[in-house]
Amino acid sequence: MHILVIEDEPKVAQAIHKGLESENYQVTVASTGEEGYFLATTRAFDLILLDLLLPGRSGLAILAALRKQKCQTPVLILTARDAVEDRVLGLDTGADDYVVKPFAFSELLARIRALTRRGRPEQALILRLSDLEIDCVTRKVRRGKQEIDLTAKEFELLEYMLRHQGHIVSREMLARDVWKVTSRATPLDNVIDVHIARLRQKVDAPFKKKLLKTIRGVGFVLKEKDI
Ligand code: CA
Repeated sequence: MHILVIEDEPKVAQAIHKGLESENYQVTVASTGEEGYFLATTRAFDLILLDLLLPGRSGLAILAALRKQKCQTPVLILTARDAVEDRVLGLDTGADDYVVKPFAFSELLARIRALTRRGRPEQALILRLSDLEIDCVTRKVRRGKQEIDLTAKEFELLEYMLRHQGHIVSREMLARDVWKVTSRATPLDNVIDVHIARLRQKVDAPFKKKLLKTIRGVGFVLKEKDI
C-alpha cells in the first residue's frame, strides 16, 4: 500500500511519514503542491493525503486538477479546524474524506483503512443533506456547526435514510435493512416509529429547516424540499 503525502510543514510531514511506515505503509512525501501534483500524475498510489493549505498551488487546485484528469485515487484531505468551507469545498471537489488538524494518529489510520478497504466510489464515508452531515467513521453527526448525539441505532437509521435521501423509505425496508428482521411475524412498526420520532426530535426539531418527512401510510423520506 503506497501513500502519497502532500504536506509542506516538515514536522507534520515527518510525523505522518514515520507513523505510516511503522504501520507498514510505503510513503512518499511531497513538500510542495507542484511536486505533489507531478508525483500523483506520474506514479500510482493507493491513497493521497493532501494538505489544503500549501504555498503556491493550493490543495484544492491540485484536487480539482487530479479529478479533471480522471485520477480515481482516493484523496484524504487535511484541513484546519473551523475551516468548514474548505471541508465542504474539498468534498465537493472530489475528496473522499477529511481529517481536521490537529488530529489523533489513530483517527488518521482509521480513515486510511476505511478508504483503502472500501475503495472508491462504492460507499461514501461522509453523507450530507443540506446542513446535516454524518461521518460514518467517527459516527459524528452535525447540523451546521452543532454536533448532535445519537444512539447507535439512531445513527444507523439516519445513515440509511441519508443513503436513500430523496427516496421514500418504507417501514418494511427499515425493518429488513436496519433492524435485520425479515419475518413479518414480528411487526416492528412501533419500534420504528419511536426511533423516527426520537431522530426527528434530535435532528430536525431544534432547526428551522425540516428534513425528515413522514409520508402517511407509506413511510419516510429525507429531503430538503416538501413533497
Ligand atoms: Ca500546510
